Amino acid sequence: MNQEKIIVIDFGGQYNQLVARRVRECSVYCEIYSYKTDLEQIKAMNPMGIILTGGPDSCYEEGAASCSKELFELGIPVLGLCYGAQLMMHVLGGHVCKAPVREYGKIEVTVDKTSKLYGDVSEKTICWMSHNDYIEKAAPGFRIVAHTADCPVAAAECAEKKLYAIQYHPEVLHTQEGTKMLHNFLYEVCGCSGTWKMDAFVENSIRAIREKVGNGKVLCALSGGVDSSVAAVMLAKAVGDQLTCVFVDHGLLRKNEGDEVEEVFGPNGPYDLNFIRVNAQQRFYDKLAGVEEPEKKRKIIGEEFIRVFEEEAKKIGAVDFLVQGTIYPDVVESGLGGESAVIKSHHNVGGLPDYVDFKEIIEPLRDLFKDEVRKAGLELGIPEKLVYRQPFPGPGLGIRIIGEVTPEKVKMVQEADAIYREEIARAGLDRSIGQYFAALTNMRSVGVMGDERTYDYAIALRAVNTIDFMTAEAAELPWEVIGRVSNRIVNEVQHVNRVLYDCTGKPPATIEFE
Ligand code: GLN
Repeated sequence: MNQEKIIVIDFGGQYNQLVARRVRECSVYCEIYSYKTDLEQIKAMNPMGIILTGGPDSCYEEGAASCSKELFELGIPVLGLCYGAQLMMHVLGGHVCKAPVREYGKIEVTVDKTSKLYGDVSEKTICWMSHNDYIEKAAPGFRIVAHTADCPVAAAECAEKKLYAIQYHPEVLHTQEGTKMLHNFLYEVCGCSGTWKMDAFVENSIRAIREKVGNGKVLCALSGGVDSSVAAVMLAKAVGDQLTCVFVDHGLLRKNEGDEVEEVFGPNGPYDLNFIRVNAQQRFYDKLAGVEEPEKKRKIIGEEFIRVFEEEAKKIGAVDFLVQGTIYPDVVESGLGGESAVIKSHHNVGGLPDYVDFKEIIEPLRDLFKDEVRKAGLELGIPEKLVYRQPFPGPGLGIRIIGEVTPEKVKMVQEADAIYREEIARAGLDRSIGQYFAALTNMRSVGVMGDERTYDYAIALRAVNTIDFMTAEAAELPWEVIGRVSNRIVNEVQHVNRVLYDCTGKPPATIEFE
């Protein structure tokens, strides 16, 4: 497959995944690689262009993340962003040092519209800056094409060699015309034609899966969530009845969810998936008894999952492949996507035990962001109702109960969450809020009910808006909705006497609680 491809080289910056998704939004496929990746390997991928990301280091310091001069001599267009820009200048003979004035936030940049990057960009445009160092002097052969009040080189180019260095972050939406600038790099400089389309991705993936699997047997871990549903249907289209889907009810699902999943994917639903439901609730509760530490809980749930699958696989006979609905943010947060730090391990990525009883794992959505997974789902003909389902983490309510998990606590959070979802839907907000759910805090406090003192749990309500789940902000729910929800929860859910609303964004919080 001769796909047009952009390589994003990761220097550890916080917006790197955004770079990748903006490129894909421009209909160009791209992949992220660590800066430690061998140059030969990058050459072999034959990219249309290379983008160097931001990063925390100072390029002039000993031991800083670096790249070879050769990278700029391949004849492949290179765009450096922030750290990437500084590094390009540093390596090619410019001068980078600590800036007299550090810039952070939205800053007005004046651009030279004769640059290919800026043809359709306003001369004065707001960009997102985040740097302590600056390019004091551009490298020989470069021309300055943007500046700010405090930053003499906000962008420089050597058009002849197709090298571009940008001090600000076009990938961040606060950079008002950032997407235009990236689009210009991809189309005007790299000469991309925009062949990355979801229908092509789905088609190619199905073909690739078919080739890989051959006559093998495939076992799919179906959770009923958007990701695993899309993965399962994709596999079903690729290999038909060689696929068996196992749905583990781990007792950490939302209220009635097990039955709902069975309705859609079971023998009476529209799909032909060889659906098997395993009721393993007690097994998970036993393993989780007394465990409080979030990472440990995630690992236990992940590992128990795999064990259950192994047992099912043995019942079916030899199974060659295991399918998982891992998506790109899971990979990145687990510290496997380039250089970013480990935030938390996802049960279907970092929590994998060393020994897995299958030949290979297939993760057809590993390169996709959430909204791209949804697009793929629609492309596959999965009903909208399912495609736009609330995201639900693999470890389920296990990580929405802070501290030890018990069946009683599961019941509490299930009931509270069901009320919350019901009221959100009743208020007509269910499609406009990115994600919302109830969690059970580990805090008990004093209340009064029916003239009696209570000492009960607090439920936390979370609602966030996000496009790609990499960053999010707390949603401003109408007060009357919160009021109604909290009223119903304390009245209808035993052992809850307080309801709190989580106002934090991501970062600094994560969307889930653990
Ligand atoms: N560490 C570099 C600086 O402080 C680059 C920062 C960045 O890439 N955001 O200037």
